[in-house]
Amino acid sequence: MSSGRPRVVIVGAGFGGLAAARSLRHAAVDVLVVDKHNYHLFQPLLYQVASALLDPSEIAYPVRAALRRTGNADFRLARVDAVAVEARTVHTDAGDISYDYLVVAAGSVNNFFGVGSVEERAHGLKALEEALSLRNHLLQAAERAAWAEDESERQRLLTVVLVGAGPTGVELSGAISELVHLVLRKDFPRLDLSRMRIVLLEAGDDVLPAFAPRLRRAALRTLQSKGVEVRLHAAVSAANDEGVVLSSGEEIPTSTIVWTAGVRGAPLAASLGVPLNRQGRVAVTDTLQLPQHPEVFVIGDLAELHQDGAPLPMLAAVAMQQGHHVATTIAGSLSGVQPRPFRYRDKGIMATIGRNSAVAQIGPLRFTGFVGWVMWLGIHLILLVGFRSKVIALFNWAWDYFFYDRPVRLIARPERLEATDASHTPHPPER
Ligand SMILES: Cc1cc2nc3c(=O)[nH]c(=O)nc-3n(C[C@H](O)[C@H](O)[C@H](O)COP(=O)(O)OP(=O)(O)OC[C@H]3O[C@@H](n4cnc5c(N)ncnc54)[C@H](O)[C@@H]3O)c2cc1C
Repeated sequence: MSSGRPRVVIVGAGFGGLAAARSLRHAAVDVLVVDKHNYHLFQPLLYQVASALLDPSEIAYPVRAALRRTGNADFRLARVDAVAVEARTVHTDAGDISYDYLVVAAGSVNNFFGVGSVEERAHGLKALEEALSLRNHLLQAAERAAWAEDESERQRLLTVVLVGAGPTGVELSGAISELVHLVLRKDFPRLDLSRMRIVLLEAGDDVLPAFAPRLRRAALRTLQSKGVEVRLHAAVSAANDEGVVLSSGEEIPTSTIVWTAGVRGAPLAASLGVPLNRQGRVAVTDTLQLPQHPEVFVIGDLAELHQDGAPLPMLAAVAMQQGHHVATTIAGSLSGVQPRPFRYRDKGIMATIGRNSAVAQIGPLRFTGFVGWVMWLGIHLILLVGFRSKVIALFNWAWDYFFYDRPVRLIARPERLEATDASHTPHPPER
């Protein structure tokens, strides 16, 4: 039943959408959050699910629980297929929903840059299903390698290739190295895991390009000390059933390809009827609105906004600050306050490369090693949604740290990957 108050529909219960909904709790509006999942996903820790350190329930939190204290907000589990901006309606697989204000916070999906053979075979790391699928795959590959009779097939099973040395590729390769050398080593005493190859391919000329040179060098040293083979200027041109092919023609036999080389705006953006940039992001005004439709806001990974001459990065902090900002704008507009330009306050960036090691860049400050790692732990613990998630994650981290053991290394095959999600293609059955 309508309350007569303006209705704010928020597409996406990620970092941006949830921040917007919660910040509207005192505004005289009805808020409806629509998401195709019933949980908020803490993507920065997806790699820990993939490397068997955390369970999905520690990094995913029910949207309804997250909105419990936002009395004017409701949730609808639905996939939004299109936005009809003229009709002020979103079309979903559960029916049409009309709005007075719309906040599009649908995030991003894997970007395979049109290399279909890689998209068909690589594991992405954007969704919970993908992280679980990768965990199962890694553990299954070790089981197969343990019984492989053919030497070259065993080596192929023991080779993991990660494509893209940004924070996700760096963090995941460090975590897989520790999974193999500190944990699986004890489970597979008869398998020579010193033959495990973890190859991190980067088309550019350095790892972690967004970080300061000193931090990049520290990250590279740490990766190498963990046995990760970092290959710079190595672009992947194709994949086949045997492994990956580089643009130089070199082939690396592998049973595991992980794509961490980039993302693009969620496909929903195409229905907004505005130009998209090469990354599929929507060019918004400095107030985060669509130029012709000020009642439509686009935030987070999906929004392209330049600040000081560069596009804002796809970061959780950007999405959250933008969520707060559009909530203030919407609340203000009810009493005639003009929207103000958004300005991102940089909170810094960090990446961890396994136990006792992280790099962090906060304003002019640079941290590496143990200090960086403790900061990383503290900040991620604070940001995890839900007290239970914090406690269990802390327990699992401590268990892993002291006992070199990961509690969740079960091969629990999830259902087939969601076929409707344009971000990935279901993997073919394991061979
Ligand atoms: C592996 C990984 C590690 C990362 N690490 C960090 C980090 O350390 N620090 C950092 O700041 N950032 C990190 N990021 C980036 C950060 O997660 C994103 O910038 C942030 O999630 C963007 O927030 P958002 O609200 O725009 O989108 P998201 O948080 O992605 O939320 C989008 C929501 O929209 C929903 N949705 C999408 N399409 C539809 C549809 N058609 N219908 C209904 N619902 C839909 C999705 O289900 C999702 O809940 C990482 C990302 C990844 C993938």
